Amino acid sequence: MSERRTIGVALLGLGNVGGGVVKLLEDNAAAIEARLGARLEVRAIVVRDPDKANRVVDVDKSLLTTDMMAAINRPDVDIVCELMGGTTLAKEAVLAAIKAKRQVVTANKALLAEHWAELFTAAETAGVDVYYEAAVCGGVPIIRVLREGLASDRVESIHGIVNGTSNYILSTMTETRRPFAEILKEAQELGYAEADPTLDVGGGDAAHKLAILVNLCFGTIIDVNAIEKDGIDVVDPIDLSYAEKFGYVIKPLVIAREHGRAIEARVHPALVPSNWLLADVSGAKNAVYVQSYALGPSMYYGAGAGMLPTAMSVVSDMIEIARNMFARAGSQVPRPRPVESRPMVPVADLESSYYLRFGVHDQPGVLGQLMTILGSHAVSIAQVVQDGAPGRRDSDTPVWVVVLTHRAREGDVRNALAEIDALPIVRERARVIRIAG
Ligand code: NAP
Repeated sequence: MSERRTIGVALLGLGNVGGGVVKLLEDNAAAIEARLGARLEVRAIVVRDPDKANRVVDVDKSLLTTDMMAAINRPDVDIVCELMGGTTLAKEAVLAAIKAKRQVVTANKALLAEHWAELFTAAETAGVDVYYEAAVCGGVPIIRVLREGLASDRVESIHGIVNGTSNYILSTMTETRRPFAEILKEAQELGYAEADPTLDVGGGDAAHKLAILVNLCFGTIIDVNAIEKDGIDVVDPIDLSYAEKFGYVIKPLVIAREHGRAIEARVHPALVPSNWLLADVSGAKNAVYVQSYALGPSMYYGAGAGMLPTAMSVVSDMIEIARNMFARAGSQVPRPRPVESRPMVPVADLESSYYLRFGVHDQPGVLGQLMTILGSHAVSIAQVVQDGAPGRRDSDTPVWVVVLTHRAREGDVRNALAEIDALPIVRERARVIRIAG
């Protein structure tokens, strides 16, 4: 730590979040200093091309450098803040910072989800911390809630909306009943969705965040690639209308809970009862609904992305690190309890209620055939709607049969659907969306 009451910071990356951090450290400098009793001072900013580096905020050009290792190893740098994204260079940089005994802040969920054990083992060996509040839900302080607020409690389950792009697209589809592809294109034009939206709409980004949440809630490291995930592109406007008729809205959810030693973790769009708090989380907002033993239900809501909300989490991590440094409290971040891996519940054994939409030929006996097959696979029916309104159909439009099931095993549902999809009466493969709650 430097002699003066200042903490030196090196920023790796000056994009949206990096720019936000520079701005927030300037805009809130007095308040931060009053709370911390010290200044957080940026000593170096690593960029790829200094000539292009002033796009988001104006910075003192003398801080800019392309020499990452020199910036990390500067003797006046206490905290290294990785805000580049990606998992290759970012991992090298974070490991180098840990080796140089710098405290680390990162907003990089992919890096944490994929290399958690390696990073935290290295940090433990070096006696430094890795803070990552911004990595899950941007500005919503869910990591601090799980680590500190609920430290004396036991989390039983979490349901979250943790990808703002997917939530924005599904919310807009719900409001306008326009198709997924059209809203996605519009979101890309407005800059709300990436040019390659796969990670967001396919559930990969949410799976990274869920792996981190599972880690904190259940004290285990799970393989992010083993998380069952479905993208939101399975949702058609007609599903939103049927969901509404049944009293639900469709939301992009992450779900996790313990089943004894096994962990259930999944990412998919789900029908959420319209009286749930999560049903009201719209647009690009994020929320995590936690069910815990002592507190019961609680929900944490806010901006899951954006320059200043995300920077706020990053700078709050810096403040916490600085306080620990002044208190000489050493490492504060609880490691995953004995790093034992726990099994994931196999996909076939996951249980849920289901929304099934079948596109079938309009002929007698169709409903009976569907029900017989579902019943033979132990999938019991809660509600059925057959869309037979005259005049709505032509030879190209299937008749929709929509079924809500009671709780069933995923494996049984998949076996039933495989049999149904092969029937001559089927015109369109079944659309399957799980029901939460
Ligand atoms: P971004 O706008 O793309 O910024 C990334 C920055 O890193 C760019 O300025 C980029 O430089 C720089 N960079 C990349 N490789 C570099 C290298 N080799 N050397 C130096 N600089 C390099 O991304 P972002 O939105 O700020 O996101 C940063 C991190 O925060 C990611 O891990 C992201 O997942 C996480 N995060 C973002 C948000 C959000 O709202 N944006 C929310 C939560 C978490 P160039 O400009 O030269 O490419």
